[in-house]
Amino acid sequence: MNDFNVELNLRLERIREQGLYRELRRIDSPQASQIAIGGKSLINFSSNDYLGLANHPTLKEATIKAVEKFGAGSGASRLICGSLAPHFELEETIAAFKGTESALSFSSGYSAAVGTICALLGKDDIIVLDKLVHASIVDAARLSGAKLRIFSHNDLNELEDILRWSETKMTSTTDKRPRTLIVTESVFSMDGDLAPLREIVALKQKYNAWLMVDEAHATGLFGQYRRGLLEMLGLSNQVEVQMGTLGKALGSAGGYICGSKSLTDYLINRARSFIFSTAPVPAAAAAATVAINLVQSSEGAERTQRLCELLASTKERLTQSGWNLSTVQSAILPLIIGDETKAVQLAAKLRERGFYIPAIRYPTVALGSARLRLTMTASHTPDDITKLHSALSAGTL
Ligand SMILES: *Cc1c(COP(=O)(O)O)cnc(C)c1O
Repeated sequence: MNDFNVELNLRLERIREQGLYRELRRIDSPQASQIAIGGKSLINFSSNDYLGLANHPTLKEATIKAVEKFGAGSGASRLICGSLAPHFELEETIAAFKGTESALSFSSGYSAAVGTICALLGKDDIIVLDKLVHASIVDAARLSGAKLRIFSHNDLNELEDILRWSETKMTSTTDKRPRTLIVTESVFSMDGDLAPLREIVALKQKYNAWLMVDEAHATGLFGQYRRGLLEMLGLSNQVEVQMGTLGKALGSAGGYICGSKSLTDYLINRARSFIFSTAPVPAAAAAATVAINLVQSSEGAERTQRLCELLASTKERLTQSGWNLSTVQSAILPLIIGDETKAVQLAAKLRERGFYIPAIRYPTVALGSARLRLTMTASHTPDDITKLHSALSAGTL
C-alpha cells in the first residue's frame, strides 16, 4: 500500500511541475451567473448552462414531480426494468425537437459517444476525426479498434485526402466491406468556432462515408427552432448520426443520439454503454424533457436572443482590449494564453477580483495552448460584462 501511494505521489509531483495539476473546487450554490466558492460570491463565466436552465423553476418543478411519481432511482438498466415513462417521453421529445425518426438517451454524452461509435465500427473499419474533437470521441475511436485518421482542425483538403485513401480500402475484395465514419463537432468546445458542415456533408457523400455530428455546444442555441447548427444549415436529414448532451444548454444531465429508427434499434442491441449501465434517474429525463419544450417556446427564443446580444457586446469589448476572437461564433470565448502556469496564475488573479474563469490546459487542449475559457449565458447581465471588461483591461493580465 505504501509503495502504491509513493508511486502516485511521484506521478502527481510530475503533473505539478508541468503546471498541469488539477483539483476540484466546491460550489456552495446552484449553477448560476453568480456562484459561491469558499464563502465568496464570484461572477461565473465558466458554465455550459448557456440558457440558464439548470436552476430554472420549470425544470426544478418537473424534477420534483418526477421524483414524487417515479422515485429517486431507476432500478436497473434500460433493457431490464429501468425504462420508465420519463425516458420514453424524453426520447419522443428529442426526436420531435430534432426532426428525426428516432432518438435514444444515454446516461451522459460521453457514454453516448463511446457506445455508438463502438457499436458502429470494428477493427476493419476507418474512423476519421477532426483534430479538436472532444475526448469522448477520441476515446470511443480508440476503443472501437477502427483505423484512426485525424485531419487538422477544419481542414477540408486533409479530410478529402483521407477519404480518397479510405475509398480504396472500402472497395477492397475481402468479404467484409469496411465502413468509414467521419466525426466532428458542430461547435468546438474549447475554441468556440464552427465546423464547415456543408462541405463535410458534400465530401462524405462523394466518398460514401458516414457522418456523425456532435452538437453538444449547439443544441438549444442555433437554428430557428434552436435544434442546432445542422438545423440552421438545413442539413439535419443528411447526417447519419446526431449526438449531443442534455447537460449543457438543456440544463439537465444525460446524452442522446438521434437519427433513423434503424440506428436507435441497432444501438439498443449493440451499444454496450447503453446496455450495461443503470438507466439515468427519471428526474433527469423529466427535467430534460421540459427543457427541450422550454427551448422551443417564446421564452427559449428570448433567452437565446439575450445571450446573442450579450455575446456580441462581450466579443466587441474583448476584441478592443486586444484579444483575438475572430473565429469565435458561439457562447465559448477562448482567451488564449499559451503557457500553462501563466494561465493558472491569471485564473487565480481573476478569482481574487471576483470572477470565475478557469484555466483550460493539456490534456483538454494541446500543450502550450492553455487558455481561459470564458462562456456567456443568458443569465448574465450587461453589468457583469462591464465588470469583466474593466478587470481584463485594468492590468490584471
Ligand atoms: C460535454 C461534451 C460531451 C460529453 O457530454 P456529457 O453529457 O458531459 O458527458 C461530448 N462532446 C462534447 C463536444 C462536449 O463538449
